[in-house]
Amino acid sequence: MPVKESLSELAQLADTAGLFVVGQTFQRRDRPNRATYIGTGKLVEMKSLMSEKNVDIVLFDDELLPRHQRELERGFGEDLRILDRTALILDIFAMHASTREGKLQVELAQLEYRLPRLTKMWTHLARQAGGRAGGAGGGVGLRGPGETQLEVDRREIGRRISVLKTELESVRAHRSRYRAKRRQTELQVVAIVGYTNSGKSTLLNHLSNADILSADMLFATLDPTTRRITMPGGREVLFTDTVGFIQKLPPNIVAAFRATLEEIAEADMLIHVVDATHEHAAAQIESVDDILAELEVDHLPTIIALNKTDLLPQDRQPEKSLPVNGVAVPISALTGQGVESLLLAVEAVMEQQFQPITVMLPYSRGDLMSLFHERGQVNEERHLPEGTEISGRIPHRLISLFDNYLRVKDMAG
Ligand code: GDP
Ligand code: MG
Repeated sequence: MPVKESLSELAQLADTAGLFVVGQTFQRRDRPNRATYIGTGKLVEMKSLMSEKNVDIVLFDDELLPRHQRELERGFGEDLRILDRTALILDIFAMHASTREGKLQVELAQLEYRLPRLTKMWTHLARQAGGRAGGAGGGVGLRGPGETQLEVDRREIGRRISVLKTELESVRAHRSRYRAKRRQTELQVVAIVGYTNSGKSTLLNHLSNADILSADMLFATLDPTTRRITMPGGREVLFTDTVGFIQKLPPNIVAAFRATLEEIAEADMLIHVVDATHEHAAAQIESVDDILAELEVDHLPTIIALNKTDLLPQDRQPEKSLPVNGVAVPISALTGQGVESLLLAVEAVMEQQFQPITVMLPYSRGDLMSLFHERGQVNEERHLPEGTEISGRIPHRLISLFDNYLRVKDMAG
């Protein structure tokens, strides 16, 4: 993604966080300045620009090393806050987390991000201590109350981090029990993925009349929401809405939101929602594909939903100009146009995940019997003295439940 586009996305993120952007600038360098990240001249230039405009915060589009952050704070002066993309994204996550797990995840990610960056405190206190010892900037006077306070802060954060980790573990254990229970219902799962703001929540809303927060903000949804949807053919399927992807999603955030993203790994297939009206839709598709590969879920069958086509001229065919391979369905999640075709395409994929089997179920296994009828397709049923012989097709994920009763395993599927 080109610099300008990345910066305008950063501006949109800033806007989502409630900041007002007064200006943007960038610099081309082979490598960051060792001390101040940007060049010294650039720093001076920015500083004078900012004092004109009464700026409170300087946002960097890339993740800053703690060292750069410290030097930039020195360079720009105490009154300015230096933030990078990661800190901003974490702030937005903190604003939007709504479940207990989401909140714990964000706090943990924030503290882990902050721990090596307790720099403002450091320079501030170091100067105090230095002043007290009578030497400006010397190392001698640094040992004092300032450092003690910093050590206390560090230890406190360290303790809080380990408390959070323990809590998260217990929340996750609970969740995987819940997921195991859900697996017993054995519904097929479709995960809705896509770049942030592409219309994932709007689509799930439309499908389920669920009232999921949908807003023109980046990251309006943080926690996965799952809904049971009846397909055109009558079958029930679970659809789950996921956190939006974004380019330069910091790796520690991907790690922090592993649990959210785990929902994706458990899905039978994906719907990749694309904002087909976006100027950089192609780059967004690639970012999402990259993250899916990173999460090792790129093997899942995927249907692309080219969304917001209500905003496109009638004759424009977005699939012609975008890097989509495989099935792509133009839709409008807002008006519902094309959504039926999307569901039919989903059904077709799910159909392929059915496998032919023949089982002999003893009369004591009425549960499996009704499962076969509800979730599979029965072709033939024979009532014999020792039980019922059923042949037909069932979703791949159910096969293992019938392991003990397989009569003929038809390998054709
Ligand atoms: P998410 O981040 O992928 O969950 O995106 P949302 O569902 O929150 O939608 C982001 C914005 O795009 C909202 O303002 C939606 O109203 C808008 N939007 C979503 N789908 C459509 C669509 O099909 N047409 C139009 N015109 N706007 C849409
Ligand atoms: Mg959403």
